[in-house]
Amino acid sequence: MQINHHSLKLQAGYLFPEIARRVDAFTTAQPDADVIRLGIGDVTEPLPPAIVAAMHDALDEMSRRETFRGYGPEQGYAFLREKIAEHDYQARGCAVDADEIFVSDGSKCDTGNFLDVLGAGNRIAVLDPVYPVYVDTNVMAGHTGEADTEGRYEGLVYLPATADNDFAPALPSEPVDLIYLCYPNNPTGAVAGHAALKAWVEYARAHDALILFDAAYEAYITDPDVPHSIYEIEGATEVAVELRSFSKNAGFTGTRCAHTVVPRGVTAPGPGGSDRVPLHQLWTRRHTTKFNGVSYIVQRGAEAAYSDEGRAQIRSLVDFYMENASIISRTLTELGISVYGGTNAPYIWLRTPDGEDSWSFFDRLLKQAHVVGTPGSGFGAAGEGYFRISAFNSRENVGEAMRRIRESV
Ligand SMILES: *Cc1c(COP(=O)(O)O)cnc(C)c1O
Repeated sequence: MQINHHSLKLQAGYLFPEIARRVDAFTTAQPDADVIRLGIGDVTEPLPPAIVAAMHDALDEMSRRETFRGYGPEQGYAFLREKIAEHDYQARGCAVDADEIFVSDGSKCDTGNFLDVLGAGNRIAVLDPVYPVYVDTNVMAGHTGEADTEGRYEGLVYLPATADNDFAPALPSEPVDLIYLCYPNNPTGAVAGHAALKAWVEYARAHDALILFDAAYEAYITDPDVPHSIYEIEGATEVAVELRSFSKNAGFTGTRCAHTVVPRGVTAPGPGGSDRVPLHQLWTRRHTTKFNGVSYIVQRGAEAAYSDEGRAQIRSLVDFYMENASIISRTLTELGISVYGGTNAPYIWLRTPDGEDSWSFFDRLLKQAHVVGTPGSGFGAAGEGYFRISAFNSRENVGEAMRRIRESV
Protein backbone atom coordinates (compact mmCIF):
# COMPACT_ATOMS: atom_id res chain seq x y z
CA MET A 1 0.00 0.00 0.00
CA GLN A 2 1.28 3.43 -0.90
CA ILE A 3 -0.17 6.86 -0.23
CA ASN A 4 -0.04 9.90 -2.50
CA HIS A 5 3.14 11.30 -0.99
CA HIS A 6 2.64 14.59 -2.85
CA SER A 7 -0.16 15.43 -0.40
CA LEU A 8 2.45 15.55 2.34
CA LYS A 9 3.98 18.60 0.63
CA LEU A 10 0.91 20.67 1.49
CA GLN A 11 1.60 23.32 4.08
CA ALA A 12 0.42 22.06 7.46
CA GLY A 13 -1.20 25.30 8.66
CA TYR A 14 -3.77 25.77 5.92
CA LEU A 15 -5.33 29.20 6.06
CA PHE A 16 -8.93 28.62 7.18
CA PRO A 17 -8.21 25.96 9.84
CA GLU A 18 -5.56 28.32 11.27
CA ILE A 19 -8.12 31.16 11.39
CA ALA A 20 -10.62 28.84 13.10
CA ARG A 21 -7.95 27.81 15.62
CA ARG A 22 -7.18 31.42 16.55
CA VAL A 23 -10.87 32.38 16.76
CA ASP A 24 -11.56 29.33 18.98
CA ALA A 25 -8.69 30.23 21.28
CA PHE A 26 -10.03 33.78 21.51
CA THR A 27 -13.66 32.80 22.22
CA THR A 28 -12.52 30.26 24.82
CA ALA A 29 -10.62 33.01 26.60
CA GLN A 30 -13.45 35.54 26.16
CA PRO A 31 -16.71 33.54 25.95
CA ASP A 32 -18.89 36.67 26.07
CA ALA A 33 -17.31 38.33 23.04
CA ASP A 34 -19.72 38.63 20.09
CA VAL A 35 -17.38 37.82 17.21
CA ILE A 36 -18.41 39.03 13.72
CA ARG A 37 -17.03 36.89 10.90
CA LEU A 38 -16.04 38.66 7.71
CA GLY A 39 -13.45 36.01 6.91
CA ILE A 40 -14.42 33.01 4.79
CA GLY A 41 -16.23 33.96 1.57
CA ASP A 42 -19.59 32.38 2.29
CA VAL A 43 -22.98 33.92 1.60
CA THR A 44 -25.40 34.60 4.48
CA GLU A 45 -28.75 35.51 2.89
CA PRO A 46 -31.44 32.89 2.09
CA LEU A 47 -32.18 31.49 -1.39
CA PRO A 48 -34.24 33.78 -3.66
CA PRO A 49 -37.99 32.88 -3.52
CA ALA A 50 -38.26 32.05 -7.25
CA ILE A 51 -35.55 29.42 -6.77
CA VAL A 52 -37.17 28.02 -3.64
CA ALA A 53 -40.53 27.71 -5.43
CA ALA A 54 -38.94 25.86 -8.37
CA MET A 55 -37.20 23.46 -6.00
CA HIS A 56 -40.47 22.80 -4.11
CA ASP A 57 -42.18 21.98 -7.42
CA ALA A 58 -39.34 19.68 -8.43
CA LEU A 59 -39.54 17.87 -5.11
CA ASP A 60 -43.28 17.36 -5.67
CA GLU A 61 -42.47 15.86 -9.08
CA MET A 62 -40.03 13.47 -7.43
CA SER A 63 -42.74 12.39 -4.97
CA ARG A 64 -45.08 11.05 -7.73
CA ARG A 65 -44.46 7.88 -9.74
CA GLU A 66 -45.51 9.55 -13.05
CA THR A 67 -43.02 12.40 -12.72
CA PHE A 68 -40.29 10.75 -10.66
CA ARG A 69 -36.76 10.87 -12.12
CA GLY A 70 -33.73 8.71 -11.41
CA TYR A 71 -30.27 9.34 -12.85
CA GLY A 72 -30.20 12.33 -15.16
CA PRO A 73 -27.63 13.15 -17.86
CA GLU A 74 -24.20 13.44 -16.21
CA GLN A 75 -23.51 16.74 -17.99
CA GLY A 76 -26.75 18.26 -16.74
CA TYR A 77 -30.31 18.48 -18.04
CA ALA A 78 -30.80 20.22 -21.39
CA PHE A 79 -33.31 22.63 -19.79
CA LEU A 80 -30.50 24.07 -17.64
CA ARG A 81 -27.64 23.88 -20.14
CA GLU A 82 -29.72 25.73 -22.74
CA LYS A 83 -30.60 28.52 -20.31
CA ILE A 84 -26.94 28.89 -19.31
CA ALA A 85 -25.78 29.02 -22.94
CA GLU A 86 -28.42 31.57 -23.85
CA HIS A 87 -28.20 33.96 -20.88
CA ASP A 88 -24.58 33.73 -19.75
CA TYR A 89 -22.93 33.48 -23.17
CA GLN A 90 -25.03 33.99 -26.32
CA ALA A 91 -26.67 37.13 -24.88
CA ARG A 92 -23.15 38.59 -24.58
CA GLY A 93 -22.17 37.59 -28.09
CA CYS A 94 -20.15 34.54 -27.04
CA ALA A 95 -20.27 31.51 -29.32
CA VAL A 96 -20.94 28.89 -26.65
CA ASP A 97 -23.43 26.05 -27.25
CA ALA A 98 -25.40 24.11 -24.66
CA ASP A 99 -23.41 20.94 -25.41
CA GLU A 100 -20.19 22.72 -24.43
CA ILE A 101 -21.56 23.25 -20.92
CA PHE A 102 -21.01 20.71 -18.14
CA VAL A 103 -23.20 21.15 -15.05
CA SER A 104 -21.50 20.10 -11.82
CA ASP A 105 -21.76 20.30 -8.05
CA GLY A 106 -19.22 23.10 -7.74
CA SER A 107 -16.44 25.12 -9.32
CA LYS A 108 -14.06 24.17 -6.54
CA CYS A 109 -14.37 20.49 -7.48
CA ASP A 110 -14.19 21.26 -11.21
CA THR A 111 -10.99 23.24 -10.73
CA GLY A 112 -9.30 20.25 -9.12
CA ASN A 113 -10.98 17.63 -11.29
CA PHE A 114 -9.88 19.29 -14.50
CA LEU A 115 -6.33 18.15 -13.78
CA ASP A 116 -7.52 14.61 -14.59
CA VAL A 117 -7.44 15.46 -18.31
CA LEU A 118 -4.14 17.39 -18.30
CA GLY A 119 -0.66 15.94 -18.35
CA ALA A 120 1.94 15.98 -15.60
CA GLY A 121 4.65 18.03 -17.28
CA ASN A 122 2.86 21.35 -17.73
CA ARG A 123 4.45 24.60 -16.60
CA ILE A 124 1.76 26.25 -14.49
CA ALA A 125 1.24 29.95 -13.75
CA VAL A 126 -0.88 31.34 -10.91
CA LEU A 127 -1.42 34.84 -9.65
CA ASP A 128 -0.01 35.66 -6.22
CA PRO A 129 -2.12 36.15 -4.06
CA VAL A 130 -4.23 33.23 -5.30
CA TYR A 131 -7.37 31.19 -4.52
CA PRO A 132 -5.52 28.35 -2.72
CA VAL A 133 -7.44 25.58 -4.54
CA TYR A 134 -5.51 26.14 -7.80
CA VAL A 135 -2.20 25.59 -6.07
CA ASP A 136 -3.11 22.82 -3.63
CA THR A 137 -4.78 20.62 -6.28
CA ASN A 138 -1.61 20.82 -8.38
CA VAL A 139 0.50 19.96 -5.35
CA MET A 140 -1.67 16.90 -4.66
CA ALA A 141 -1.43 15.86 -8.33
CA GLY A 142 2.37 15.86 -8.06
CA HIS A 143 2.85 18.85 -10.37
CA THR A 144 5.14 20.76 -7.97
CA GLY A 145 8.16 20.32 -5.76
CA GLU A 146 8.32 21.28 -2.10
CA ALA A 147 7.24 24.62 -0.63
CA ASP A 148 9.87 27.16 0.40
CA THR A 149 9.77 29.12 3.67
CA GLU A 150 7.37 31.69 2.17
CA GLY A 151 5.00 28.93 1.01
CA ARG A 152 5.88 29.10 -2.70
CA TYR A 153 6.05 25.68 -4.34
CA GLU A 154 8.98 24.77 -6.53
CA GLY A 155 7.94 24.41 -10.17
CA LEU A 156 5.03 26.88 -10.14
CA VAL A 157 5.30 30.28 -11.80
CA TYR A 158 3.94 32.95 -9.45
CA LEU A 159 2.80 36.25 -10.95
CA PRO A 160 2.66 38.86 -8.17
CA ALA A 161 -0.45 41.09 -8.14
CA THR A 162 0.07 43.98 -5.77
CA ALA A 163 -0.74 47.69 -5.52
CA ASP A 164 2.58 48.33 -7.34
CA ASN A 165 1.20 46.85 -10.57
CA ASP A 166 -2.45 47.77 -9.92
CA PHE A 167 -3.14 44.08 -9.25
CA ALA A 168 -2.63 43.39 -12.97
CA PRO A 169 0.40 41.10 -13.27
CA ALA A 170 2.60 41.17 -16.34
CA LEU A 171 2.52 38.18 -18.70
CA PRO A 172 4.93 35.40 -17.67
CA SER A 173 8.50 36.05 -18.74
CA GLU A 174 9.10 32.31 -19.12
CA PRO A 175 6.83 30.08 -21.26
CA VAL A 176 3.92 28.44 -19.41
CA ASP A 177 1.33 25.88 -20.55
CA LEU A 178 -1.47 26.36 -18.05
CA ILE A 179 -2.67 29.67 -16.63
CA TYR A 180 -5.17 30.13 -13.82
CA LEU A 181 -7.07 33.41 -13.97
CA CYS A 182 -9.83 34.48 -11.61
CA TYR A 183 -11.81 37.65 -12.50
CA PRO A 184 -13.36 39.39 -10.63
CA ASN A 185 -10.52 38.26 -8.40
CA ASN A 186 -10.68 36.47 -5.12
CA PRO A 187 -8.99 37.73 -2.93
CA THR A 188 -8.02 41.16 -4.34
CA GLY A 189 -11.36 42.14 -5.90
CA ALA A 190 -9.50 43.31 -9.03
CA VAL A 191 -11.04 42.94 -12.48
CA ALA A 192 -9.48 42.44 -15.91
CA GLY A 193 -10.59 44.73 -18.71
CA HIS A 194 -10.90 43.81 -22.36
CA ALA A 195 -7.29 44.71 -23.22
CA ALA A 196 -5.85 42.68 -20.33
CA LEU A 197 -7.89 39.60 -21.22
CA LYS A 198 -7.02 40.00 -24.88
CA ALA A 199 -3.32 39.97 -23.95
CA TRP A 200 -3.83 36.70 -22.03
CA VAL A 201 -5.74 35.09 -24.89
CA GLU A 202 -3.05 36.13 -27.37
CA TYR A 203 -0.36 34.79 -25.06
CA ALA A 204 -2.20 31.46 -24.81
CA ARG A 205 -2.65 31.24 -28.56
CA ALA A 206 1.01 32.06 -29.21
CA HIS A 207 2.30 29.53 -26.64
CA ASP A 208 -0.31 26.79 -27.17
CA ALA A 209 -1.30 27.30 -23.52
CA LEU A 210 -4.62 26.74 -21.78
CA ILE A 211 -6.38 29.35 -19.63
CA LEU A 212 -8.59 28.16 -16.78
CA PHE A 213 -10.82 31.18 -16.27
CA ASP A 214 -12.70 31.24 -12.96
CA ALA A 215 -15.64 33.65 -13.19
CA ALA A 216 -17.31 32.75 -9.88
CA TYR A 217 -17.89 36.47 -9.13
CA GLU A 218 -19.15 37.47 -12.59
CA ALA A 219 -22.47 38.70 -11.17
CA TYR A 220 -20.65 41.33 -9.07
CA ILE A 221 -19.29 43.23 -12.08
CA THR A 222 -20.76 46.74 -12.08
CA ASP A 223 -18.38 48.45 -14.51
CA PRO A 224 -20.04 48.22 -17.97
CA ASP A 225 -16.65 47.95 -19.74
CA VAL A 226 -15.51 44.84 -17.90
CA PRO A 227 -16.05 41.55 -19.81
CA HIS A 228 -18.22 39.00 -17.99
CA SER A 229 -16.83 36.02 -19.86
CA ILE A 230 -13.41 35.23 -21.35
CA TYR A 231 -15.30 34.25 -24.52
CA GLU A 232 -16.04 37.93 -25.13
CA ILE A 233 -12.43 37.97 -26.34
CA GLU A 234 -11.89 36.84 -29.92
CA GLY A 235 -10.12 33.50 -30.19
CA ALA A 236 -10.77 32.52 -26.56
CA THR A 237 -12.96 29.57 -27.55
CA GLU A 238 -9.76 27.86 -28.74
CA VAL A 239 -7.67 28.37 -25.60
CA ALA A 240 -9.92 28.85 -22.57
CA VAL A 241 -12.08 26.81 -20.24
CA GLU A 242 -14.44 28.91 -18.09
CA LEU A 243 -15.81 28.03 -14.65
CA ARG A 244 -19.00 29.55 -13.28
CA SER A 245 -20.92 28.84 -10.12
CA PHE A 246 -24.35 29.55 -8.64
CA SER A 247 -22.68 29.81 -5.21
CA LYS A 248 -22.01 33.53 -4.99
CA ASN A 249 -24.77 34.96 -7.19
CA ALA A 250 -27.77 32.78 -6.24
CA GLY A 251 -26.56 31.83 -2.76
CA PHE A 252 -25.89 28.15 -3.65
CA THR A 253 -22.81 27.62 -1.45
CA GLY A 254 -24.79 25.03 0.51
CA THR A 255 -27.13 23.96 -2.33
CA ARG A 256 -24.30 23.14 -4.80
CA CYS A 257 -24.47 23.81 -8.53
CA ALA A 258 -21.94 25.18 -11.01
CA HIS A 259 -20.89 24.72 -14.59
CA THR A 260 -17.73 24.47 -16.66
CA VAL A 261 -17.53 25.46 -20.31
CA VAL A 262 -15.23 23.37 -22.48
CA PRO A 263 -15.55 24.71 -26.04
CA ARG A 264 -15.13 22.15 -28.82
CA GLY A 265 -12.38 24.31 -30.31
CA VAL A 266 -10.00 23.88 -27.36
CA THR A 267 -7.44 21.26 -28.39
CA ALA A 268 -4.03 20.05 -27.24
CA PRO A 269 -1.28 18.07 -28.94
CA GLY A 270 -1.83 14.28 -28.90
CA PRO A 271 0.83 11.82 -27.70
CA GLY A 272 4.08 11.83 -29.65
CA GLY A 273 2.99 14.72 -31.86
CA SER A 274 -0.10 12.87 -33.18
CA ASP A 275 -3.31 14.70 -34.14
CA ARG A 276 -4.60 17.33 -31.74
CA VAL A 277 -7.14 16.13 -29.20
CA PRO A 278 -10.22 18.18 -28.24
CA LEU A 279 -10.41 18.68 -24.46
CA HIS A 280 -14.20 18.48 -24.84
CA GLN A 281 -13.84 14.78 -25.68
CA LEU A 282 -11.54 14.10 -22.72
CA TRP A 283 -13.67 16.10 -20.26
CA THR A 284 -16.89 14.39 -21.44
CA ARG A 285 -15.29 11.01 -20.73
CA ARG A 286 -13.95 12.13 -17.36
CA HIS A 287 -17.16 13.82 -16.22
CA THR A 288 -19.46 10.96 -17.28
CA THR A 289 -17.15 8.36 -15.74
CA LYS A 290 -16.60 9.94 -12.33
CA PHE A 291 -19.78 12.01 -11.84
CA ASN A 292 -23.46 11.13 -11.91
CA GLY A 293 -25.04 14.53 -12.24
CA VAL A 294 -26.40 17.24 -9.99
CA SER A 295 -29.71 16.55 -8.24
CA TYR A 296 -32.78 17.22 -10.43
CA ILE A 297 -34.26 19.42 -7.69
CA VAL A 298 -31.15 21.59 -7.56
CA GLN A 299 -30.97 21.89 -11.36
CA ARG A 300 -34.58 23.10 -11.42
CA GLY A 301 -33.59 25.67 -8.78
CA ALA A 302 -30.63 26.76 -10.89
CA GLU A 303 -32.88 27.03 -13.95
CA ALA A 304 -35.14 29.42 -12.01
CA ALA A 305 -32.14 31.74 -11.59
CA TYR A 306 -32.71 32.63 -15.28
CA SER A 307 -36.43 33.44 -15.09
CA ASP A 308 -37.36 37.14 -15.03
CA GLU A 309 -38.30 36.86 -11.39
CA GLY A 310 -35.19 34.88 -10.51
CA ARG A 311 -32.90 37.32 -12.27
CA ALA A 312 -34.43 40.29 -10.49
CA GLN A 313 -34.13 38.56 -7.12
CA ILE A 314 -30.49 37.63 -7.74
CA ARG A 315 -29.80 41.20 -8.80
CA SER A 316 -31.10 42.50 -5.49
CA LEU A 317 -29.16 39.88 -3.55
CA VAL A 318 -25.93 40.91 -5.29
CA ASP A 319 -26.80 44.61 -4.81
CA PHE A 320 -27.33 43.95 -1.12
CA TYR A 321 -23.83 42.49 -0.69
CA MET A 322 -22.35 45.25 -2.84
CA GLU A 323 -23.93 47.89 -0.59
CA ASN A 324 -22.17 46.12 2.32
CA ALA A 325 -18.95 46.31 0.31
CA SER A 326 -19.35 50.02 -0.20
CA ILE A 327 -20.06 50.61 3.52
CA ILE A 328 -16.86 48.71 4.37
CA SER A 329 -14.78 50.54 1.75
CA ARG A 330 -16.09 53.92 2.83
CA THR A 331 -15.42 53.33 6.52
CA LEU A 332 -11.88 52.05 5.99
CA THR A 333 -11.05 54.86 3.58
CA GLU A 334 -12.24 57.41 6.15
CA LEU A 335 -9.87 55.78 8.63
CA GLY A 336 -7.00 56.45 6.24
CA ILE A 337 -6.58 52.82 5.18
CA SER A 338 -5.78 52.05 1.51
CA VAL A 339 -8.56 49.83 0.15
CA TYR A 340 -8.83 47.98 -3.15
CA GLY A 341 -11.59 45.90 -4.71
CA GLY A 342 -15.13 46.15 -3.37
CA THR A 343 -16.61 47.73 -6.51
CA ASN A 344 -16.80 44.74 -8.88
CA ALA A 345 -16.37 42.04 -6.25
CA PRO A 346 -17.69 41.29 -2.75
CA TYR A 347 -14.18 41.51 -1.28
CA ILE A 348 -12.31 44.47 0.14
CA TRP A 349 -8.55 44.04 -0.04
CA LEU A 350 -6.81 46.45 2.27
CA ARG A 351 -3.24 47.47 2.96
CA THR A 352 -2.49 46.87 6.64
CA PRO A 353 -1.71 50.17 8.42
CA ASP A 354 1.96 51.04 9.00
CA GLY A 355 3.21 47.92 7.24
CA GLU A 356 1.90 45.64 9.98
CA ASP A 357 2.13 41.99 8.96
CA SER A 358 -1.10 40.27 7.92
CA TRP A 359 -1.39 37.87 10.87
CA SER A 360 -0.62 40.50 13.48
CA PHE A 361 -3.34 42.73 11.97
CA PHE A 362 -5.66 39.70 12.11
CA ASP A 363 -4.92 39.19 15.82
CA ARG A 364 -5.33 42.88 16.59
CA LEU A 365 -8.68 43.14 14.76
CA LEU A 366 -9.93 40.06 16.60
CA LYS A 367 -8.81 41.27 20.03
CA GLN A 368 -9.75 44.94 19.68
CA ALA A 369 -12.88 44.80 17.49
CA HIS A 370 -13.92 41.14 17.73
CA VAL A 371 -13.98 41.07 13.94
CA VAL A 372 -12.56 38.21 11.84
CA GLY A 373 -11.06 38.80 8.41
CA THR A 374 -8.52 36.89 6.32
CA PRO A 375 -4.77 37.60 6.39
CA GLY A 376 -3.51 38.35 2.89
CA SER A 377 -0.38 36.25 3.40
CA GLY A 378 -2.63 33.17 3.57
CA PHE A 379 -3.32 33.64 -0.16
CA GLY A 380 0.36 33.79 -1.10
CA ALA A 381 3.64 35.49 -0.33
CA ALA A 382 2.67 38.61 -2.32
CA GLY A 383 -0.41 38.98 -0.07
CA GLU A 384 1.77 39.79 2.94
CA GLY A 385 0.88 43.23 4.26
CA TYR A 386 -2.68 42.93 2.94
CA PHE A 387 -5.94 41.75 4.47
CA ARG A 388 -9.29 40.61 3.02
CA ILE A 389 -12.67 41.61 4.38
CA SER A 390 -15.72 39.92 2.93
CA ALA A 391 -19.01 41.74 2.27
CA PHE A 392 -21.00 38.55 2.88
CA ASN A 393 -22.94 39.25 6.06
CA SER A 394 -26.11 40.90 7.33
CA ARG A 395 -26.31 44.70 7.12
CA GLU A 396 -26.54 44.81 10.89
CA ASN A 397 -23.31 42.83 11.37
CA VAL A 398 -21.44 44.87 8.78
CA GLY A 399 -22.60 48.10 10.44
CA GLU A 400 -21.62 46.85 13.88
CA ALA A 401 -18.23 45.59 12.65
CA MET A 402 -17.48 48.98 11.09
CA ARG A 403 -18.56 50.83 14.26
CA ARG A 404 -16.14 48.70 16.30
CA ILE A 405 -13.29 49.10 13.80
CA ARG A 406 -13.82 52.88 13.87
CA GLU A 407 -13.54 52.89 17.65
CA SER A 408 -10.64 50.55 18.05
CA VAL A 409 -8.27 50.29 15.13
C1 LIG B 1 -16.49 30.66 -4.06
C2 LIG B 1 -15.57 30.42 -5.18
C3 LIG B 1 -15.85 29.46 -6.15
C4 LIG B 1 -17.14 28.67 -6.11
O1 LIG B 1 -16.94 27.40 -5.67
P1 LIG B 1 -18.16 26.38 -5.56
O2 LIG B 1 -17.46 25.07 -5.37
O3 LIG B 1 -18.91 26.44 -6.85
O4 LIG B 1 -18.99 26.78 -4.38
C5 LIG B 1 -14.96 29.28 -7.19
N1 LIG B 1 -13.85 30.02 -7.28
C6 LIG B 1 -13.55 30.98 -6.40
C7 LIG B 1 -12.35 31.79 -6.59
C8 LIG B 1 -14.40 31.18 -5.31
O5 LIG B 1 -14.09 32.13 -4.42
